[in-house]
Amino acid sequence: MNLSKDETGKTRLMTRIASHRGGTLEYGDSTPRGFAATAAMALEEVEFDVHPTADGAIVVHHDPTLEGTTDRCGAIAGLTLAEVKSATIHYSAGGHPLTLEELCALYASSSVDFRCEIKPGADGLAYPGFVPKVIDLLARHDMLARTTFSSFLLSSLDDLMAATDRPRLWLVSPPVLKQVGVHGVIELCKAHGVPEIGVHIDTADAALAKVIRAAGLDFGCWAAHAPAQIDKALTLSVKVFTTDRPTLAIGLRTAFREKETEA
Ligand code: FE
Repeated sequence: MNLSKDETGKTRLMTRIASHRGGTLEYGDSTPRGFAATAAMALEEVEFDVHPTADGAIVVHHDPTLEGTTDRCGAIAGLTLAEVKSATIHYSAGGHPLTLEELCALYASSSVDFRCEIKPGADGLAYPGFVPKVIDLLARHDMLARTTFSSFLLSSLDDLMAATDRPRLWLVSPPVLKQVGVHGVIELCKAHGVPEIGVHIDTADAALAKVIRAAGLDFGCWAAHAPAQIDKALTLSVKVFTTDRPTLAIGLRTAFREKETEA
């Protein structure tokens, strides 16, 4: 039932949809509203980013700082949880940043699984000792077995490998893909034991998918927000794509699959 064909005609599992930051273009960036709505959607994953607070809590927020999307300023890692919680997220009906614990509670009875991105701090470097704390919290709340991890940082992927056998994927940015090249990226994946790559949808094509899959790696995309980008991800039969427009993506996937069934 949940099968699809890729560019070579090979049968693949249905492309998974990940609601990016709880569906930023539909509900605002990393908002309680968006995460609650995503929990009830007919999709497979909710993507979110985590940061530590100064007093040991873990907060679900995209930026390492508050000023981009809330009415408060400062680096999350330099603030207490109470200070972070006092921030009101713009365009979120008065919502405040969620803790990872609160997100776990929201998804405890949801069929949507976690895609947890390990972010660097405001200085661009990984937070020291952060990954084991994230894993411990997810395990304590029975969500670790339902979590896939992602990161742009190979050092964070190394930390993940040392701490858990849960799936990990490397988010490869357009400049890295361009500078390192696909074969270099594949070599790095092998060297770091990473089984999956996610590229920006605009850098994805059938040739890239073919090379990555031929190397035995899973292939996914991120930032598929426009209908043409979502259709491209579906046509390439990627394993998973993130989107800021989860409701739109669900509709397009349903239409795509109906067309495929008719063909
Ligand atoms: Fe992210």
